[in-house]
Amino acid sequence: MTQPGAAVRLAVIPGDGVGPEVIGATVPVLAAAVSAQGGELQVTELDWGGERFLREGAAMPADAADVAKEHDAVLFGAVGRPDVPDHELVWGLIIGLRQQLDLAVNIRPVQAFAGVPTKVRDTDGVDLVIVRENTEGEYVGAGGVAHAGSGHDLGIEVAVHSRRVIERAAHHAFALAGKRSGKLSLVTKSNAMRHGYPLWDRVVAEVGEQYPGVELETVLVDAMAARMIQAPRSLDVLLAGNLFGDILSDLAAVLAGGMGMAPSANVLPGGDVPGIYEPVHGSAPDIAGRGVANPVACLLSGALLLEDLGHTKAAHGIRQAVAAALLDPQNHTPDLGGSATTADLASAVLNRMET
Ligand code: ATP
Repeated sequence: MTQPGAAVRLAVIPGDGVGPEVIGATVPVLAAAVSAQGGELQVTELDWGGERFLREGAAMPADAADVAKEHDAVLFGAVGRPDVPDHELVWGLIIGLRQQLDLAVNIRPVQAFAGVPTKVRDTDGVDLVIVRENTEGEYVGAGGVAHAGSGHDLGIEVAVHSRRVIERAAHHAFALAGKRSGKLSLVTKSNAMRHGYPLWDRVVAEVGEQYPGVELETVLVDAMAARMIQAPRSLDVLLAGNLFGDILSDLAAVLAGGMGMAPSANVLPGGDVPGIYEPVHGSAPDIAGRGVANPVACLLSGALLLEDLGHTKAAHGIRQAVAAALLDPQNHTPDLGGSATTADLASAVLNRMET
């Protein structure tokens, strides 16, 4: 937490592909929002990502977590480039950093803004949040390859689900649901996976006893995928493990207009480490370098960041300005069916903040 009016020490990792484009659009908006409340945004730009990997053999330095800890929060763009295997950069940067900082949950809000076209019909009023466990599950990194190169290669990927990690994600999800509609949907797959997900079901139900005001339902992930499209307004807060949370949040982003609209926050609730705030999308190599990436996911990630630091008014100002800018189709980037550039949409947001 920093006080509104105080300096915000922000580490910025633009990264690869559209990362620098959406970060470049977002930082001035954050600076304006903070200074409107009498504060100052102090930015440290970090050159971590694919280029650094090619130059120095590592996407980020060995003391990356310590560098992050010198700041109040981290704003991250994206990693990934066509000439480096994806896992080198994803593990070498964002998954690695989430694990080193023990950022327990990944919060992924999805909100349908008025005026934004979507590929799915009838999404008006959709407003849900996915709370994704962020350190274990299928992405814990346990496994290996046996008989490599023999023609009978065997890939082993072990999913890990521990009570401690389920509990802390569940507490966060119940608390959030309590502040919203009082409904929490746990997403698992306990009919087919007999060990890890039944543990989730049991532990989350136990944690739920401490939150009598929240109604808990448990939904299988396949049924949830269908419901998210058929009845998205029946959902409010979803709690899911690492893999299901990742997949469902891309699906949910479609309800809000696509990948360019989905923000996220990696945080350790109650912990003394900086959160990492990032658009859900990746480096989007197919549109990178053209200046047409939608900056909204990154702008809204910045709003989450300021809100978590206690700069509620500044965060609110950004959200209102984004909502107002999106009402005008002239500000829509190509992913939303328009012809505005990243810079056009960002300056429409800035203008609305000034008024
Ligand atoms: P990575 O491997 O880095 O995740 P990817 O291409 O697999 O990259 P995304 O970067 O998320 O995954 O891109 C998926 C699709 O969404 C692409 O067609 C991309 O152009 C589109 N997309 C992603 N981000 C944006 C954005 N900010 N604005 C517009 N379209 C986007």
